[in-house]
Amino acid sequence: MKIIVAGGGHGGIAAASILAKRGYDVTVYEKNAEKDMGYDWTDIFAPSALDAAGFPMPDKSKYSYKENMTFYGPGFHTALRQNIPEDKLEIKMERADIYAHIIGCAKENGVKFVFECPVLGPVTLGTRVVGIKTEKGDFYADLVIDACGIDSPVKRGLPSSCGINPETGKNNQFYVYRAFYDRATDDEVEDKYKVCLFAEGKLGIGWIATEEDVTDLLVGRFEPFDLAEAERTAEYYRQSNPSLGKKLKRGGQFVKIPVRQPLSKLVCDGYAAIGDSAYMTVPIIGSGIANSFKAAKMLADTVSKDYDGAFSSDSLWEYQVKYYSALGSGFASLACVKEALTVFTPDELDYLIDNGVINAGDMSIDADTTDLSSILSGKTPDDIKKKVRGVVKDKALLKKMLGVGKKMAAVISVTAAMPKRYYKPDVDRWVKNYEKAINMSLV
Ligand SMILES: Cc1cc2nc3c(=O)[nH]c(=O)nc-3n(C[C@H](O)[C@H](O)[C@H](O)COP(=O)(O)OP(=O)(O)OC[C@H]3O[C@@H](n4cnc5c(N)ncnc54)[C@H](O)[C@@H]3O)c2cc1C
Repeated sequence: MKIIVAGGGHGGIAAASILAKRGYDVTVYEKNAEKDMGYDWTDIFAPSALDAAGFPMPDKSKYSYKENMTFYGPGFHTALRQNIPEDKLEIKMERADIYAHIIGCAKENGVKFVFECPVLGPVTLGTRVVGIKTEKGDFYADLVIDACGIDSPVKRGLPSSCGINPETGKNNQFYVYRAFYDRATDDEVEDKYKVCLFAEGKLGIGWIATEEDVTDLLVGRFEPFDLAEAERTAEYYRQSNPSLGKKLKRGGQFVKIPVRQPLSKLVCDGYAAIGDSAYMTVPIIGSGIANSFKAAKMLADTVSKDYDGAFSSDSLWEYQVKYYSALGSGFASLACVKEALTVFTPDELDYLIDNGVINAGDMSIDADTTDLSSILSGKTPDDIKKKVRGVVKDKALLKKMLGVGKKMAAVISVTAAMPKRYYKPDVDRWVKNYEKAINMSLV
């Protein structure tokens, strides 16, 4: 049976690798040249996810363990220092090395790669996806796995009858500038990995990570911005972070990261989305590599159970059920917490941090965070209600906080009610209810 992976996203390559090893004929079509895969920077992810996708650990020289991060609110009053236990520490690796590692393993397992081949959209027959259109011609397959990232042209080109909404939505993606500058001073830096929430009162985050030779700057906003604004912001951070030099050493790109609930439908006839095209990042922090690897195993197992290769919505639905049950439902409720950050004023956020409503424990979010147990120190929306009622005296802020709890409760209950088997009317009804809960106003 023939499988196409559109785009060389992490989850797509991982699924390709597992499926080729199991005997499927799998080809990945990627727009970049092999030597240009990935961005010019390092990424952090949970190494256990490599194992989940059947990849061995890379050579020890290729990774190091990540430092704990320190979070600050807009006013920089209170430092929230993470304390992640050693056995839960994530690894830091060059993105190019991650790609070299997984592409090498996938090739060994029999995956074919066509590089420098931009995908233009799906080839459809009625409601079924039967292949992809590319700049090198059309290619057909029994199943198309969409790993083309947040702006996937395959997802965008699906007929509306597939029921997959390709719009990412407002405040659901981070516009990011990332650059590595020289390290301007040799002075010891207390907080080597600093994350600033709403710095200068602007909706977004910034991080300044001081490494041995460079200082890694990330500016992320919910609205697009240009290089002049990125440079102005870098200058702002330099005032309180003298290690941040002016000479650009690496990176310097603008990119997007999805920070929202997972796609409401991951599959349709002949099609399955994975990775950023399915919004599989942790909505608050934007980590998506480990989740994509884990999802790859779920997808491959679902595909392998479809012995006659129908790859219909019906047979692929199990992938969606598995994904939501293991990760997606938790991320959908975390998306409410992310949304809360967009309705707080900078002063309100400082108040919550300064008064311990948001504390260091809450910031121990990593790529393995899949539920609310570490967020706002509450296991359920009710815990959160109890906690904020005791501390938050301001009525407007209390209303927003309670709105978050109410919305999370609605999202948790709707994701729990996802149909376990595919029956179109039930699935359509569920998608409507899911989107209604997600679109509930917080204020
Ligand atoms: C600045 C930044 C920092 C990040 N840091 C981390 C981190 O530390 N840890 C972490 O876990 N995650 C991190 N992420 C998120 C992570 O990159 C993604 O969530 C993860 O890679 C999964 O996305 P993906 O591989 O599916 O999509 P992408 O990374 O977008 O990959 C899509 C692939 O498809 C290809 N493609 C796109 N369009 C086409 C087309 N038309 N035709 C053919 N090919 C196409 C692209 O070239 C690319 O190879 C970060 C993201 C950004 C932007």
